[in-house]
Amino acid sequence: MEQNQVDNSMKCQKHLKNDIIYLQINEINEKNSVFYCEICVNRDFNFKPQNFVRIKEILDYCKDSVIFNWPPLDSHAIQQHLIEIFENGEKKCEGLKKKIEDYFESLKNDIISKIDDCKSQFLKFVTENPFSESQIKKKYEELSKGDLLNQIIKEQSHNPSEGEKNYRNFIIEFIEKKKENSDYLLNMIEKNNQIYKTVDFEKLNQIKQMMIADFDQINHILQNNGVQTLKNDILESLEFIKSKHDTKYQDLHIERDSLNHSLTLKIQEQQLGYGTYYYSNKILEKNKKYRFKIKVSNVDISNSARFGFGLCRDQIKDSAILLQDNIFFHARLSQFSLNPTNLTNSVIKLVKGDFKHCNKEIEIEINIFLEQKIFNVIEANHNFEITVADQYKENLSNYESLRFYLLLDTFIQFQFIEAVEI
Ligand SMILES: [Zn+2]
Repeated sequence: MEQNQVDNSMKCQKHLKNDIIYLQINEINEKNSVFYCEICVNRDFNFKPQNFVRIKEILDYCKDSVIFNWPPLDSHAIQQHLIEIFENGEKKCEGLKKKIEDYFESLKNDIISKIDDCKSQFLKFVTENPFSESQIKKKYEELSKGDLLNQIIKEQSHNPSEGEKNYRNFIIEFIEKKKENSDYLLNMIEKNNQIYKTVDFEKLNQIKQMMIADFDQINHILQNNGVQTLKNDILESLEFIKSKHDTKYQDLHIERDSLNHSLTLKIQEQQLGYGTYYYSNKILEKNKKYRFKIKVSNVDISNSARFGFGLCRDQIKDSAILLQDNIFFHARLSQFSLNPTNLTNSVIKLVKGDFKHCNKEIEIEINIFLEQKIFNVIEANHNFEITVADQYKENLSNYESLRFYLLLDTFIQFQFIEAVEI
């Protein structure tokens, strides 16, 4: 019944017997009907197919198709792309997903096989080393002739005077070889020590860190194209609270620039010459990754000033032992130099580069991955990269409720240009 009603309403008003077959969807005017039957098409010398949609297509419309010519668009090419997407889009997208899967699967396999290869080379170097402990033991047994000595003593214990003669002859042989045997064994022992120096874990860990950092290049491909990976911008919500670590603390002046998306921090009254600690309102979550990009500058042209940043447990954030967690970087910054102050007491470690070319204003990226025990700082121009000293790395994953904190001297300015939680 309903179908009939629709059919009835689809007759041409001008040519009453004829079904409407087209709906005009573009360049319409008041004078003409937007409904066209076969004869209407024939009579319209200016009939442009691109301005019409077939009624049948509208009636047959289902979600998986494009209604040809609908909606009105600037170019026919868009329509073509849409049709292509509707017809082959799913297959194309699946194809790309498959390629991504294949790429990462092959990357993973290639890397695993490289790693396995290196691992077996290293193990082979140790186990098959001619100066390994087992080789030294063997050599000792060989040149000491302990068995023979043991035998001589046992056999001749019932005849000590006879035994003494044999024993003397036996030891004279060894006394003569004393120098030769000493040199031989000492050489082996030295070569054995060398094994432990060759397998240099400091170097190996540096390479590991670098490789992990290199992997970020893969993500950068997406980020450089403006793709937001699953990261949460925390710059807007980031606040800093002054620590009661020192009684002489100063208020912080905070400026948010929503246009440039930055957060600038400096001490309010720039006349007193001591540093103040400020900690983040946010407690860092263990399973998340944090990245801060900060420009640090000293606005005083005549003096150097202290700045720093690090992590501390929530329970000591207001106490005198704020630095006790040993995850921090402190430095002095002047017009001419950047001098880290906690390299000497080994709280931090230089991974690569040096501080020679840094002064006045530096831009740094701080990566904090608590679960992975990573706290590293990369200078934007790759002049240096630093990390937490090995003995404090455990603190990153062991400590609960860590906060990020800043140390500012008068005239130091921190400008956060990025703060993300991944
Ligand atoms: Zn008609």
